Amino acid sequence: MYEAVIGLEVHCQLKTHSKAFSPDSTSYGARPNSCVDPVSLGHPGTLPVLNRRVIECALKLGLATRCRIARRSVMARKHYFYPDLPKGYQISQFREPICTGGFVDIGRRIRLTRIHIEEDAGKSLHDRDPHATLLDLNRCGVPLLEIVTEPDLRTAKEASVFLQKMRQLVRYLDISDGNMEEGSLRCDANVSVRKASSSGLGVKTEIKNMNSFRHVERAIDHEVARQIRVLEAGGTVTEQTRLFDAAERQTRQMRSKEQAHDYRYFPDPDLPPVEVTEGMRRAILLTLPELPDARRHRYEEDLGLPAYDAGVLVEERHIAEYFEATHAELVRVVRDADPAACAKVVSNLVMGDVMRALKENRGAAFALAPERLAELAHLRMAGKLSSTGAQELFARMSREDGSAAAVAARHRLLQVGDEEALRPVAAQVLRDHPKQVGQYARGKRTVLGFFIGQVMRRFDGSPDPRRVRELLLLMLDEKVS
Ligand code: ADP
Ligand code: MG
Repeated sequence: MYEAVIGLEVHCQLKTHSKAFSPDSTSYGARPNSCVDPVSLGHPGTLPVLNRRVIECALKLGLATRCRIARRSVMARKHYFYPDLPKGYQISQFREPICTGGFVDIGRRIRLTRIHIEEDAGKSLHDRDPHATLLDLNRCGVPLLEIVTEPDLRTAKEASVFLQKMRQLVRYLDISDGNMEEGSLRCDANVSVRKASSSGLGVKTEIKNMNSFRHVERAIDHEVARQIRVLEAGGTVTEQTRLFDAAERQTRQMRSKEQAHDYRYFPDPDLPPVEVTEGMRRAILLTLPELPDARRHRYEEDLGLPAYDAGVLVEERHIAEYFEATHAELVRVVRDADPAACAKVVSNLVMGDVMRALKENRGAAFALAPERLAELAHLRMAGKLSSTGAQELFARMSREDGSAAAVAARHRLLQVGDEEALRPVAAQVLRDHPKQVGQYARGKRTVLGFFIGQVMRRFDGSPDPRRVRELLLLMLDEKVS
């Protein structure tokens, strides 16, 4: 039996306004070659200046993953020739990265070797013109963080879960949009296999060019199967870089170890070392939001929410915050509120109506302010709304002004739940149908449904069927005993 060993190198594009070393805009989708100042193009005589926001982003991610933060880290030049790299080198961190030794928890801890700062290269477009490669240099100098893991992952699925957690984290920290299609989050996977009983590391290959969770999973699965086939046939795996072809669903060789680059790294003489003071570290620590894992744990432990609800609610930070604002408001307005009961009502509304509305109107704001959703939740908790009534009220309130109670009254959505209103109607129904009451007395319990139907029909609004049922049972038992 073989076991796979996987280490990831994740590139994450930072959400800064300007580039890593120049004031150029980083906006995605700008007209090709419109964001290219002389620094981005590496013109002679220009000097890079490190964007302070980039250091802040690195510190946020490093602190959120419990890394050691280096007081002093160094920007280096990584040399290679490629048409989309006009300077002939990429500025990156090599021997002295800004963060080392943290971890990400995916059920077990996946250790991070390092997180370092670097700049992106431009883009070569090979498929626009069959006879030419076009260059768009807008991306030159866009800031990236590279996150390198230890070879701790064991399955393609784990690699994909790790990447999803990484994406969630950078979005929570608001340092990247984590958009894989637009290339803001990219990943290379290093893969080897070994006999399940052994603890040494096998020869690895590196797969490049993966831009979706599904591709990552597929590419790794294919590569693991390929390596096992090679070994089973008595061959040896050779160290090489492979490309994943999404259409063919396979990996193929790009270059072998012999063709590997010698990047001739050396410290960039134009950039001083990056100094992080204790004050900067502490200031960033204070800006960190509550992270998804801690939040999920709190929702389960303190609010008693089911694990499923907690997982869905914390997935996106803005949804978790909306849930919490609504919950806080509901707890405030309900007398002797039970926070756990309030949490479940709000959770159901957020996971249902709210998230459905967000999906239907992609990019739109929340349909209701937390205060208004809390009013709706309050009516629901008081038994004044059925679940379909709540759904309709949510839709109406999204389009109409007014409190939940006012909108519900306007559209007759309130459920009559109080005994005072129900009792006279129920009594009248029983008086009107002595025959059925007699049947009930002789043990024909199914006529209860008939009575419920009669009461419901006599109401203009919509009585709560559960209350009607309880009340009728009580009154019938009084009558026949
Ligand atoms: P290189 O410099 O040759 O690319 P590194 O030691 O820098 O290799 O590691 C790059 C990535 O490859 C890291 O994520 C690391 O965890 C992973 N890795 C290293 N050795 C192996 C191996 N034998 N099998 C799988 N992954 C590995
Ligand atoms: Mg590598």
